[in-house]
Amino acid sequence: MANTESERVHCLIIGSGPAGYTAAVYAARANMKPVLYQGIQPGGQLTITTEVENYPGYPDGVQGPEMMVDFEKQAARMGADIRYGLATKVDFSQQPFKVWIDEEKLIEADAVIIATGASAKWLGLESEQRLNGYGVSACAVCDGFFFRGKEVAIVGAGDTAAEEALYLSKLCTTVHMLIRRGEMRASKVMQERVQKAANIKIYWNSEADEVVGENKVEALRIRNNKTNDTQTIPVSGFFVAIGHEPNSAIFKEWIDMDEAGYIKTIPGSSKTNIEGVFAAGDVQDKIYRQAVTAAGSGCMAALDAERYLSAKGIV
Ligand code: NDP
Repeated sequence: MANTESERVHCLIIGSGPAGYTAAVYAARANMKPVLYQGIQPGGQLTITTEVENYPGYPDGVQGPEMMVDFEKQAARMGADIRYGLATKVDFSQQPFKVWIDEEKLIEADAVIIATGASAKWLGLESEQRLNGYGVSACAVCDGFFFRGKEVAIVGAGDTAAEEALYLSKLCTTVHMLIRRGEMRASKVMQERVQKAANIKIYWNSEADEVVGENKVEALRIRNNKTNDTQTIPVSGFFVAIGHEPNSAIFKEWIDMDEAGYIKTIPGSSKTNIEGVFAAGDVQDKIYRQAVTAAGSGCMAALDAERYLSAKGIV
């Protein structure tokens, strides 16, 4: 690994969703001179949503991407040093903590706040990846518009899939919904809504075998996992709504996580198993996963980091 440059900072924040930017606002105001690396998706998951109606302070709602620009501007105005770059490796074995950005720049930090969020899961089919962006999507709210008046399919049976199927049912002629078991995981009320929608067709015990199409989605080949019968449904869009996974892989060697990779924090705090390393937002929260809870936990992480650094006489 090229190790051409290194830089020492007091407080390094990794991630640029509501958690990372809120941590940056608090850390900057506490004179911790935070440096924030945005990762590959500056603004995080909210940049791939449309209207946000449940973030307090926006009485008329706000577009997700616009809200994240506001978050960034506020953090920058407070003095946070916001940079484009992806943390690719860490070494938390000793102080100062080492974090490599884009595999070459080395940052040495007295405190680290992990706010790397979570990403959509994929089925893992070659055709799904090849046609990603050409009819395959993991965000109905972002891409449903392109399939107005057309037939689409969706896979998943949780609340997200139910919500997205209902969203698509308002735009599309038919929504073919694949459920791999004989029941849905979604909450009762969402299940009822899905089952009542006249143009959502449910396929129980069914899985996607292949997304059919050269340069764009033309159909979906599905298989009933009880009978092994296959059929091909002509669709223009295929939505994958099978959950999310935390972006925590680079921390695995050092930080305690649950079996799904969510970082464990000490209840009531943002503290991880390593003193001086804190976690906030969706990377440590599989329950609430809201912008406002992520922002709240980013605030906690900055306050915890400040206490830690001031106890050490660093800030
Ligand atoms: P979940 O983990 O709850 O559900 C994932 C779904 O995808 C499950 O039904 C699962 O099937 C299915 N699945 C996973 N892998 C595959 C695969 N390879 N092939 C086919 N199907 C697959 O994720 P969600 O994103 O739906 O929800 C996450 C959390 O967020 C939940 O706690 C949910 O309640 C919450 N949420 C709440 C909302 C609300 O209240 N408005 C809206 C959205 C989410 P199986 O059931 O067989 O495991």
